[in-house]
Amino acid sequence: MADGLYADGIAAGRLSGEDYEKNFADLHPPLDGHEARVEADRCYFCYDAPCMTACPTSIDIPLFIRQIATGNTLGSAKTIFDQNILGGMCARVCPTETLCEEACVREAAEGKPVQIGRLQRYATDAAMHVGRQFFGRGEETGKTVAIVGAGPAGLACAHRLAMHGHTVTIFEAREKSGGLNEFGIAAYKTPDGFAQAEVDYVTAIGGITIEHGRALGGDVSLAELARDHDAVFLGMGLAGVNALNAVGEDADGVENAVDYIAHLRQASDLASLPVGRRVVVIGGGMTAIDAAVQARLLGAEEVTICYRRGQEQMNASAFEQDLAASKGVTIRHWLQPKRVLAEGGNVTGIELEYTALSGGKLSGTGETLTLAADQVFKAIGQTFDAAALNGSGAAITLDGGRIQVDGEGRTSMPNVWAGGDCIAGGDDLTVSAVAQGRDAAESIHRVLAG
Ligand SMILES: Cc1cc2nc3c(=O)[nH]c(=O)nc-3n(C[C@H](O)[C@H](O)[C@H](O)COP(=O)(O)OP(=O)(O)OC[C@H]3O[C@@H](n4cnc5c(N)ncnc54)[C@H](O)[C@@H]3O)c2cc1C
Ligand code: SF4
Repeated sequence: MADGLYADGIAAGRLSGEDYEKNFADLHPPLDGHEARVEADRCYFCYDAPCMTACPTSIDIPLFIRQIATGNTLGSAKTIFDQNILGGMCARVCPTETLCEEACVREAAEGKPVQIGRLQRYATDAAMHVGRQFFGRGEETGKTVAIVGAGPAGLACAHRLAMHGHTVTIFEAREKSGGLNEFGIAAYKTPDGFAQAEVDYVTAIGGITIEHGRALGGDVSLAELARDHDAVFLGMGLAGVNALNAVGEDADGVENAVDYIAHLRQASDLASLPVGRRVVVIGGGMTAIDAAVQARLLGAEEVTICYRRGQEQMNASAFEQDLAASKGVTIRHWLQPKRVLAEGGNVTGIELEYTALSGGKLSGTGETLTLAADQVFKAIGQTFDAAALNGSGAAITLDGGRIQVDGEGRTSMPNVWAGGDCIAGGDDLTVSAVAQGRDAAESIHRVLAG
């Protein structure tokens, strides 16, 4: 057994340094210039392009692809950044198979869409590599805006406000910016410190100060922010995690998938990260897939995802499910956790109950199955932690546990807007958070400009 063993079956350093490097390399390596032009030539440059409608940030996709095809790569990057200043990250993490590429006419015609995401990465990487900025800070308006959270929603909002000349202060609870781009997205989607490079690129416009280690609800209150600024934008994401509701879930070896992934993303040496030999992941979304795949890549021998409904109901896309399968992860359906088994306080397995739909309602069948496991990840959804808003003066209305906003992104509190994962009715994607941050900034600007 390798050094770093801290519980039976959970050990660090399962692989060689070479294997870690290979396993966590870029999932989709960048296109080179020739590949990019060949791919760009496949675009039909459709009038009323359906891909544009399918992109939550409405990037002018046919235009940016035409610009690549004609050798105007920096012009192409500007077209992307016009709509989506985090276009570099979105190019890496968007589930394009359910967004722009699903709508591509070539997908319908021949099952092989234009690789819009990879082309977007080609153009944005080129601009960021040479540090080319396309947007200057607008003339100072003297108005100040407080933003809570330096994730995709907060950063997109801050950049657009700076373009309009407002002065922005971001209050970020963590010591680093980027939100889930830095702490959540799978390591193989955004290697080589890209998340921080993008934060630097976005804030280089000027007029944006980020105060790290400053949490709403602890270090500052919403009432103070609203009093001291002309407007406030809440882009706080989801800080809570759902419980398994299984007996014994506090055993050692049962962990929140999101916390584990955050450790992984911040680890300077992947070999220092302990992982089980037999890992069970409970959940059916992107987090479950990411936890399972990364556990495998860290050297776990058996990784099983258990989801309480069928394959069609999984939130993870078909591409993500195939990726997990290709890495040797087993996905089992119609199973819900019942009891965590432990010995000496350490998890040894999990008892699951089969589920079935009856009259449209999901319930346990009474039949059970036990899987041996020395590590169990909970990935059954995150929740908005409204406690940070408590004591903040005028109440913020919630809807289904998240912040309610109107079509402009305004909350129920005057001069307070919100966007990203923390608002009700979203789809919990990076690109949607960017769109909502950007649009809220436009709404704030309209109000501040009178
Ligand atoms: C494991 C995982 C993998 C994912 N993979 C993908 C993917 O591949 N593709 C994709 O499109 N989407 C993915 N997502 C979803 C995507 O990351 C989110 O939709 C997106 O990050 C939301 O952006 P946001 O700005 O709303 O929130 P966040 O990114 O969560 O940022 C919120 C920020 O607010 C800060 N904050 C929170 N509370 C406070 C407070 N009280 N005071 C001050 N600051 C605070 C946080 O520290 C954080 O920096 C994934 C999510 C997870 C959990
Ligand atoms: S931002 Fe995402 S959805 Fe929009 S065009 Fe780019 S890859 Fe597609």
